[in-house]
Amino acid sequence: MKTFDKTWTVIDIIRWGTEYFQNKQIDSPRLTIELLLCEVLNCERISLYTNFEKPLKDEELQKLKEFIKRRANREPLQFILGKTKFFNTELKINNSAIVPRPETELMVSIADEIIQQNIDKIKDVLDIGTGSGCIAISLAKKYPNINFTAIDINPNSLQLAKENAIYNDVENSMNFLNLDILTNVPDEKYDLVISNPPYISKQEYEQLEPEILNYEPKEALTDNSDGLTFYRRFSDIFGVIMTPNAFFLLEIAYNQFEDVSKIFKEKGFEINYVQDWSGIKRIIIGQKQNRY
Ligand code: GLN
Repeated sequence: MKTFDKTWTVIDIIRWGTEYFQNKQIDSPRLTIELLLCEVLNCERISLYTNFEKPLKDEELQKLKEFIKRRANREPLQFILGKTKFFNTELKINNSAIVPRPETELMVSIADEIIQQNIDKIKDVLDIGTGSGCIAISLAKKYPNINFTAIDINPNSLQLAKENAIYNDVENSMNFLNLDILTNVPDEKYDLVISNPPYISKQEYEQLEPEILNYEPKEALTDNSDGLTFYRRFSDIFGVIMTPNAFFLLEIAYNQFEDVSKIFKEKGFEINYVQDWSGIKRIIIGQKQNRY
């Protein structure tokens, strides 16, 4: 890597960094260098543009150099920045949880609609495998009168989710439980259950890009099997942990709709779906069939 042995201005860095990341085949090279620069200078992107000629101090250059090296090694940008934006929140991020994805924001926006339409009925919401806490926290922020329970098998991600709840000022309406949903169930019943479980099959997991394989926690991404383990388990336990008219919302992989809907229909659930912006059936909406 080129050493910083001259005066470097903001625009010099943007130009150099864009080309450097481009050559390293890093996604969105210009945006990447700009966001790293913003973090180092502690500013918004817009002020990069109004300070093109501003020279960087030595310690800023040193810090930036470290960040550039990490991104060139394929560490996800959000882990380097230590934060990300999700729905209506800013969340702290570290490698004890996956980086929240846009598909999950879509699921949260559907949860938001379901809650709005059933505002008198939905009092208790469960988020299974909360990770950074993104799902529960963004909804808790919007609905301060609902109780949210966030569970995770990994105590480190639960710790991160708790910090994020405090950071977003919603800790008073949240419970955190360290629990393995494959072997255990929470004691309460819920009016809405949401989960983005580890749904990548063992086979597909191994083909993923280095950002994911080398940095994000494996147990949050794959069941080490056919990708359907959690849906099978959910179809066994949702009858027990859901109140009579409760809903559930699940994120699924691009090719899982048929399998997942079959799993739930066999257990007497009604299934619907929402497509993402690529036309993929991405979110499952379910309810118990009320014929009893
Ligand atoms: N609920 C978190 C998210 O959607 C974590 C999901 C997971 O670890 N599989 O980002």
